[in-house]
Amino acid sequence: GETIGILGGGQLGRMIAMAAAQLGYRCHIYAPEAESIAAEVSAAFTSADWDDSEAMAAFAADCAVVTYEFENVPVGPLSALGTVPAHPHPRALEIAQDRLSEKRFVSDLGGTPAPFAPVDTLQDLQDAVAEIGTPGILKTRRDGYDGKGQWRIGRPEDAAALDLPAKPLIYEGFVTFFAEFSVILCRGADGDIRFFDSAHNVHEGGILALSSVPAPAPVVEQVPAARALAAKVAEALDYVGVLTLEYFATQDGPVFNEMAPRVHNSGHWTIEGAVTSQFENHVRAICGLPLGETRLAARAVEMRNLIGDEAHDWPAILSDPANHLHLYGKAAARPGRKMGHVTRLTLD
Ligand code: ATP
Ligand code: MG
Ligand code: MG
Repeated sequence: GETIGILGGGQLGRMIAMAAAQLGYRCHIYAPEAESIAAEVSAAFTSADWDDSEAMAAFAADCAVVTYEFENVPVGPLSALGTVPAHPHPRALEIAQDRLSEKRFVSDLGGTPAPFAPVDTLQDLQDAVAEIGTPGILKTRRDGYDGKGQWRIGRPEDAAALDLPAKPLIYEGFVTFFAEFSVILCRGADGDIRFFDSAHNVHEGGILALSSVPAPAPVVEQVPAARALAAKVAEALDYVGVLTLEYFATQDGPVFNEMAPRVHNSGHWTIEGAVTSQFENHVRAICGLPLGETRLAARAVEMRNLIGDEAHDWPAILSDPANHLHLYGKAAARPGRKMGHVTRLTLD
């Protein structure tokens, strides 16, 4: 079969590659790491820096289409892909990898993010705190994930005491929410959009711990508005593939948190819990194939992340017939590292 190129070598790439194999594709992973858990299940692996244009061009020559499992791939070097199509388009990556540009983009489409202001200096931060108020969160505009690169600002005095990192930052007002949820959609090359059920997401220490479907009724009520915005984002970007928007459910309706131009941790439940998984639909979309049914395949599904070096009794987990275990094959369990997940299906 044809080869799908995947930029990034982590668990999302691994799960895309596994879905691609089912459809007869081979995958070629491009990642800066020397070892890759996505490459372990793929046909080819290029370990090279993002700006190695020779390596990138050789990789592209092996690929019919290129996609990403990681939104922080620098966009400049992607010109070395030449005429090989990249889905989604790098402009989606460019917008989503900067919290300021994604919030502006979504606001322009009628979405509601938390109040925000760009911050480059301590004076900017003090101005932002004076305008937006506290509590709030200062975040790096780029490269953050799992809550890394974020500082809570409880009182205006906290801002003055901060030793600001020399990076572009953004200050956001703290949103009072009763739940978090995500909208995951897949848009085909023909413009067909399919939504997965929205999961209720629970974070612990800034890291996703749990996603469950169906979400509670007060969250489900906010899904239509959240989907409408996500569809506008997808259409504005002529997006092809899986796109995720994270939301806070508030008394005043859905507040946009951030977007990810890729498959998403809060969609891992779709592997067993939806008729077609987010990974398979992403592969179908980028390969120009018809999309699969996204409907829930169980009465309820709950996905729990396995984080860090906590010891687990795998036979005990597996002896419960409701459980499906996914281990990513990562060598070292560092604190906060996502090692796998367990999906629990309630069939009746
Ligand atoms: P991800 O791993 O999802 O990419 P991230 O590092 O990009 O995470 P965010 O999604 O911005 O981080 O924040 C992580 C979590 O912190 C959110 O899911 C939410 O629980 C909390 N949080 C972030 N921003 C706000 C806010 N403005 N108000 C209230 N809570 C927030
Ligand atoms: Mg993020
Ligand atoms: Mg997030």
